[in-house]
Amino acid sequence: MSFLITDKCTACDACRTACPVKAVSKDEPIFSIDSAICNDCSDVVGGPRCLPVCPEAGAIIHLPTA
Ligand code: SF4
Ligand code: SF4
Repeated sequence: MSFLITDKCTACDACRTACPVKAVSKDEPIFSIDSAICNDCSDVVGGPRCLPVCPEAGAIIHLPTA
C-alpha cells in the first residue's frame, strides 16, 4: 500500500523476516516492498512490523496517501 524502501537500505534482511504477509522482496541492491501485498500491517495490533526493526534511518518510509 503505502510503504516504500529507499536507497538508504543496506539489505540487512530484518524487514523481510518481520513482515507477516511476505511483502518484502530481496532485490539487488536494495530490498523492495510489493505495494500489492503490503497491507500496512493494518491487520495486526502494534502497527507496521518493518519500521521498528530497520536499523537505517529513512530506509523505510511511509508514503502519504492521496
Ligand atoms: S507495513 Fe507490514 S505488511 Fe507492509 S511491508 Fe511492512 S511489515 Fe510488511
Ligand atoms: S530492515 Fe531496513 S536496511 Fe534492512 S533490508 Fe529492510 S529496509 Fe533495508
